[in-house]
Parts: sequence; C-alpha cells; structure tokens
Amino acid sequence: MRGTEISRSGRRRRREGFGKQILVLATILAFAPSYLVARFQEKPAWNLFSRDKDIELGKQYSAEVRKQLPLLTESDPITKYVQSLGHELVAVAPEHYPFSFRVVNQKEINAFALPGGPIYINLGTIQAADNEAQLVGVMAHEMGHVLMRHSTAAASKELAARFPLAILGGLMGQGPGSQLIQTGIGFGVGSYFLKNSRHAESQADLVGTDLMYDAGYDPHQMAAFFEKLEKEDKTGNSAVAQFFSDHPNPENRAEAVSREVATLTPKTYRPAAPEFATIKREAASLKPLTAKQIAALESKTNETMGQPASGEVMPNGSFKTLSHSAFQMVYPANWEIFGDESSAVTIAPRAGMTANAVAYGAIVNGFQPEPKGGAPTLDDATHQFLDSIRQSNPDLRVISQDEDIRLNGLPAKSVNLTGDSPIQGPGGHPLLERDRLITFLRNDGTLFYVIFVSPDRDARQLAPTFDKMQSSLRVY
Ligand SMILES: [Zn+2]
Repeated sequence: MRGTEISRSGRRRRREGFGKQILVLATILAFAPSYLVARFQEKPAWNLFSRDKDIELGKQYSAEVRKQLPLLTESDPITKYVQSLGHELVAVAPEHYPFSFRVVNQKEINAFALPGGPIYINLGTIQAADNEAQLVGVMAHEMGHVLMRHSTAAASKELAARFPLAILGGLMGQGPGSQLIQTGIGFGVGSYFLKNSRHAESQADLVGTDLMYDAGYDPHQMAAFFEKLEKEDKTGNSAVAQFFSDHPNPENRAEAVSREVATLTPKTYRPAAPEFATIKREAASLKPLTAKQIAALESKTNETMGQPASGEVMPNGSFKTLSHSAFQMVYPANWEIFGDESSAVTIAPRAGMTANAVAYGAIVNGFQPEPKGGAPTLDDATHQFLDSIRQSNPDLRVISQDEDIRLNGLPAKSVNLTGDSPIQGPGGHPLLERDRLITFLRNDGTLFYVIFVSPDRDARQLAPTFDKMQSSLRVY
C-alpha cells in the first residue's frame, strides 16, 4: 500500500530546485533593520529577503524536511520536553518568529535551523548533553541563527557576488537579469540554509548567550557543550563531524561567551532540573538511526523490496499503546511509529516498509471528502476515499461489500481490498497484498481511516493482531 504521508526516509539536503524559490521571493528588496534591544547588540547582516520571506521559506523547506527526516512524534515525551525548553527561550526572544522545535531520530550529534523559525535537534544531541543548560544552549544557538537571519543573509551574499549588477539595478524578478540569475543560481543556495560561516557561528553564540541568560540558564554551559563536542571531534568521533561541518567552530568560543556574560548583571541561574535526567533515560532507551541508515532508507524509493525475514516483521505478541492527538490504539511492541503530522501516522515494522510504501502495518490518516449537495455521509466519504487511493494504487480491488461496524459505539465501515504488495515475489512479480480499510466520519466532517496492510500469504496470521488494534481504537 502506497501511503499518502509516510514521513520518514532519509535526510538528503535538497539543493536543487530551491534556488528558484529564493529568486522568486528575492524580488522584494528588504534591508534588515538592526535591533538594539537591551543586551541584544548583534545586528543582522545585509539581507535581500524580508523577514516575512524568511518565514515563508522556512515553512516551505520545513515541509520537505519533515517528509525526509525520521522525526519523533509531536506526542513523544522527548519532543514535548524540548518544546517546553524552546518555549522558555522564545518567551525572551527580542523579536517574534514562529519558532518550532522537533527532534530528529538520528544518532549523530547535530542541530539545524531553517529561516524564520523551524529548529531541528538530533536525538544524539540530547543523548550527549550533560545537563539541561547544554541542550538549551544548542537550541538558543540555533535560535540565534534564525534571529540573525543567517541563512537568507548567506544566500543574499551569494546572489550579490554572482549577480551584482542585477541586484544593484533592481533587475531581480524581471528582465534579463532575473533570467540569468534563475539559470545560474539554481544550485548551491539551499545549502546556505544549513551551512554557517564562522562569523555566523560567533554571532549565534552571542545571541544564544543572551537568550539563555534572560531565560535563566547558565550560558557558559553552551560553550562547555561545544568544547566537549570539539574534543570528541578531535578524537575522531564521526558522530560529531557533521555538526562542525554545519557549525564551524569559531575561535575562542568559551572566551567570547564569558566576555558577553561579563557585560551582564550577575544572576543566579536555574538549579538543575530533575526532568532532564528522566528525558536522558528515555533518550538512551531509543535507538536512533545513523545518517547512513537514513540515506539507505531513502534510496529504497523504488517501492519494491525483497522478502523480509518473518521475525523482522511479524508481531512479537506484546503490545504498546499509541496516544495520538486524534486517536488512541494499541500496536505490536516490536513495530514502530512513523510520521509526524498530527493527522498521519504509519505503524509498521521497519523491515516491512520502503520509503513510500507499506508492506506490513497500519496507515492512520484523515481524508477530507468533497461536499456533494450537503454534508457527505459515511458511505459517500468512504467511496470518495476509495476513489482517491486508487489513483496512487491503481491495482487496488474491493473484494467485499462494505461492512457496517461500530467504532466508539458509532457507525463505521470496514472494506476488504487486494492489491500489489511492495514485496517482490518469485519472477519479479509483486506479491498479492491484502488490505482492511476502516472508516469513521468525525463530527468535523473529515473521514478518519485506518488501513491494515499485509501480504495475502500472511493475512491469516496477522488477522488477530489487526483485530486487536481495531477493537482498541478510540477516535477523538
Ligand atoms: Zn551554528
């Protein structure tokens, strides 16, 4: 079953195609104002983009990132904890941006910010931090990149260096100048969203120092963490190499932070928070993917896979509960949760899926039916949905009449389907797949659905697991 929103697969830095967007947006020339709010003495560099364009670009790029990176879910306690720390920092930020914080289920120590506010922290960073202030330090540093608008400033510099006349002459967006830029700059610009200069690093440290101080955290811990990582890097620990590639170490990092702190009134920082230890234990129990594994997952985009070993995909008999913002359901303890949006989740064994198709597992999502002369009925909405999934799965066949069932004590439907499994069988032909679709019309008119997927040959063995998942389902 080809899912609609399977948010996992690897981290690839998309550089192509992004420059074009920038160029379209760069037609508005805006010079960043410097702000001098109390301690925040740092001035953003010259920037072709407006603040609003930073936000718009960040949103667009973030949607890509969320599709490509394995993120911990919004409801994960680690995500919630990181977001609560972010909240403290955002409260003292000198300018308003729509900051957001997500944790990437990746082993390597790294973090990055997109223009306008989205910030991503690798799980490895949390595993490596010795205390809450060190983790806060990484987050404050990333917020410094956003507030100083480093990515679009770097993109602006690149544009100006390549096309000085077009920019000085205000030709961007019209005439031959913009054509030239559009063909010439189509590569390389996206990388500025992730790679920072040493100067940008120093500036992000200083802004991060001020944010931490104002939020009551000891800024020295930020420098201490970066120095710890630097030592690791020098011992050849490859888990930190990418961090320093994206955030090159500026000279005398700790001294610069100390100098900044010395200009501030001495204060008592927050005591160590006990929650950090809990989260560290939680983080230590997870097995994040390596960059290599993520890349390998991503390369499996051709939708076919070999035969996974039974032990890798079949439920082990014990169950966990997924508490999602829209529903609750039990699932096999040896399967995993993939997906990030509050509406779309795939529950599957890792070996039972490719980057964009599921061979074993359950896809949970919502569908917005078209109103056809009034609010759609469950029956209407279910058939509209079937039509829509046939577009991405033309091989799907309905093999049973819709069956009326109850969910939460309310009417729901169950439909059995067959189609082509992403698993290649003998002779290169896909195995036959069996799907069970459950639909339920919510009060807001959206169709909530779950698709239970397995190869036909394993359907009988998996039926009790899917029955148990289905009967545990509570939709909010
Ligand atoms: Zn940085």
